[in-house]
Amino acid sequence: MTSGNRTAREDPTTRVGLLSRAAEYAATVAIDLDVADLEWAISERARRRAGCCRYDPDSGEITVVLTWDAYREFGWDEFVGTIRHELVHAWEFQRFGESGHGDRFYRKADEIDAPRHCRSFTDGRIELVCTAADCDWRPERHRASRPVREPDAGYQCGECGGEYVVRHRASGRTWRTAEGYERARESLGDDW
Ligand SMILES: [Zn+2]
Ligand SMILES: [Zn+2]
Repeated sequence: MTSGNRTAREDPTTRVGLLSRAAEYAATVAIDLDVADLEWAISERARRRAGCCRYDPDSGEITVVLTWDAYREFGWDEFVGTIRHELVHAWEFQRFGESGHGDRFYRKADEIDAPRHCRSFTDGRIELVCTAADCDWRPERHRASRPVREPDAGYQCGECGGEYVVRHRASGRTWRTAEGYERARESLGDDW
C-alpha cells in the first residue's frame, strides 16, 4: 500500500513461518546479543502473556517462547514489540544470568525501543452473543474494543445484523450499552 522500494511481505501464517521470521527479525534489532544462539519456540497453550523468555542456567540455553494465539490477535506489526521485549530478557540472561523488570531492563528496553511491559493478552475474555434465536454468531473478543465498550454505538451481529449482548465469560455478566459496560467494569474491578 505504501510506496517505496520495500518489498511487501506476507505476514507469517504458520507456526514454523512465525518462528523463522521472528529469528530473522531478531537479527536486525540493534542489541548486543548473540541472536544466533537463541532457541525459538511456540506456546500453544492460551496464556496471558504474548511471549516469554526461558533460561536454563546449567546449559546457558535461552529460549524465546512466542504465544501463537497472541500473534494471531496482534498481527505481525504489533507482535514485533513482543519480540523486542523478549530480546531484552534474552540479553539480560546472556549477560547477567538473570532477568526481570528492573532499571537495567527498562534502560535497555528504551534503548531498542521495546515495550517495557510484557504485553498480556487474554484468551477470549469477552464474547459477543447475538440475541436472535436462530443465529449462532458468538465471536470471542480479547480486548475491550469499541464494540465491547459501546455495543449501542450502532454495532450489529456480524452474521444476521441483529442485536448482540456482550458477555464477560468468567463472571457471566452481560451488557448491551456503554453504560452497562461501565457498570460491569466497575463492579468487576480486578476480576475484569
Ligand atoms: Zn518481560
Ligand atoms: Zn445474529
